[in-house]
Amino acid sequence: MIPWYHRSLDFEKLWREFPPAPDYFKTVYSMPHEELRALQSERFVRQMQRAWEIPFYQRHWGKAGIKRGDIRCLDDLKHLPAFSVHDLRDSIARHPPWGDLMGVDPETDDPMPLILQTSGGTTGLPRAMIYTPRDREVMNINTARRMYMQGVRPFDRVQVALATGLPNAGFLLRESLWKYTGAVPIITGTGNQTPSRRQIEIMRSWGINFFAALAPYLRHVGNVARDELNFDVRELKLKGLLCWLGVDDRKPIEEQWGTDVFDNYGTNEFGTVCCDCRYKTGMHVFEDAFVAEVADPVTLEERPTGEKGVLVLTTLFKHAAPMVRFNTNDVLSFIAGDCPCGSTHRRLSKVFGRADNMVKFRGVSIFPEAIGALVAEQAGSNGEYICIVEPPSASSRDEMTVLVEAAELSVEHSRLKAALSRRFHEALGVKLEVKVVGNGELSRLTGISDLMKVRRLLDKRKS
Ligand SMILES: [Zn+2]
Repeated sequence: MIPWYHRSLDFEKLWREFPPAPDYFKTVYSMPHEELRALQSERFVRQMQRAWEIPFYQRHWGKAGIKRGDIRCLDDLKHLPAFSVHDLRDSIARHPPWGDLMGVDPETDDPMPLILQTSGGTTGLPRAMIYTPRDREVMNINTARRMYMQGVRPFDRVQVALATGLPNAGFLLRESLWKYTGAVPIITGTGNQTPSRRQIEIMRSWGINFFAALAPYLRHVGNVARDELNFDVRELKLKGLLCWLGVDDRKPIEEQWGTDVFDNYGTNEFGTVCCDCRYKTGMHVFEDAFVAEVADPVTLEERPTGEKGVLVLTTLFKHAAPMVRFNTNDVLSFIAGDCPCGSTHRRLSKVFGRADNMVKFRGVSIFPEAIGALVAEQAGSNGEYICIVEPPSASSRDEMTVLVEAAELSVEHSRLKAALSRRFHEALGVKLEVKVVGNGELSRLTGISDLMKVRRLLDKRKS
């Protein structure tokens, strides 16, 4: 028996459960909180039943002394141990090639149409994830809801400059745009697939309305247009940029392109988890598909709204590899108050950085990635940097110095230093020392030539 894709799912039933746009906005989007919580709880119980069928969870929860039936409703979620990417790697090492989390077994299961994509990692083997039709369709629906929220409408031309190989995002956008928005996906791929100059020519000649890319690539394309084609990308009058901001700053990119930058967050295990609406007040979580927690990085206790913590996520729809309390290790916070769009779904801040990189300096949590984003946007630097923290001495407090490479010989070091000092103080709220050095001088400290582990922080207080 060959499993035909369109016979493998009851689509009408699925769409009632997870309404695509525009129905979503007339129903779940503004559902009262209690009703939404009840919906989550009901789906969570079913997700737990599915997870108990999977060896990974039997082992992980068994080790913590948790038995079937201990977890009865969503309020019990906090009693489950979280897991992280380390547990995924361990699972893959024990059960190659993809670990024992997938819950799909060719020996015992009926055939079903499956697809595999991975995380976007650039070094080593990326994390693989298998999707069943239901998993994939819900991800398509959520991603299309995202694009609708950010203004994409039928017949819009959406240029997507994301890799279309193993990493999930490029294909996910193609499928979502095509199936659930009525817009036309124009998949140009990364700069390796379609050179940046050609990307710009396509934008100009084909009347592109939205451009989807990662933040550094948006900056790069804007610069190529200006420097090589003598063209100002603001003339494109795009309706918006569909972005993955990460730790990057929204404002400089909006100024460069003269249009809105809309953020979103997701991983290959979850698909699109949350995104900006057109008011850009924080990223609304798709709470009919996920439970999001912001927790203390060490104790995993829930953090109050407004306080930073690690994002812990649970899926409410997955058949292959359901994710129950996955610690993303990304630091975000919930945002208080309502959004003018009328959604009842809670909002997450942008990503501040990775929890394992966080450094406490004079009472402020600082993420080297955030410093890196500020360095990258500064003209005159080539983006290379390292942060060095010195322990307090008899005469002074602890000091953090950011060493930055100048892009070329003509760059005036004192100007670059002054501009960066000002920017760090403004964005991070602390005064950092800045030292500008020549192109390539930091490679010994950062180990940039050995791309497996680029060092961005040297905390001498710990040695
Ligand atoms: Zn909103």
